[in-house]
Amino acid sequence: MSHEGIRFISQEEARRAEQRDQKLPPEAITPAKVSVDLTGGTGVSIAWKDGHRSHWSFPFLRDACPCATCHEKREKSGRALGEPEPAPATAFPMYKAPARPSKAEPIGRYAIKFHWNDGHESGIYAWDFLRRLDEGKA
Ligand SMILES: [Zn+2]
Repeated sequence: MSHEGIRFISQEEARRAEQRDQKLPPEAITPAKVSVDLTGGTGVSIAWKDGHRSHWSFPFLRDACPCATCHEKREKSGRALGEPEPAPATAFPMYKAPARPSKAEPIGRYAIKFHWNDGHESGIYAWDFLRRLDEGKA
């Protein structure tokens, strides 16, 4: 018996890979209603076709930006999706306005994109990603 070709990965890695591979049913990743509270600033709410409801604050979504640059930054600092960057250790930290989009736009039928107040706008938030994010499986 040969063990060639078997990759040894940690249990945690295996668990995460398994969750990512799990296909979510179409009703779970199709929004029935999307509300982006640009004026009130409370965040984004989605009512999914399967009856589940999700809500995220804008800063959380900004810190969970799925674009390659933000993904890499998080990997390097070991931050989880939605986890804020630690404030720089200076005596007089600069005031940073809380993340908020000036605009949100649909990307086809599968995603939403935000134009953040810090000028960033390369993240495409797919419905599938958002539902997994809500369930801690992104
Ligand atoms: Zn990004």
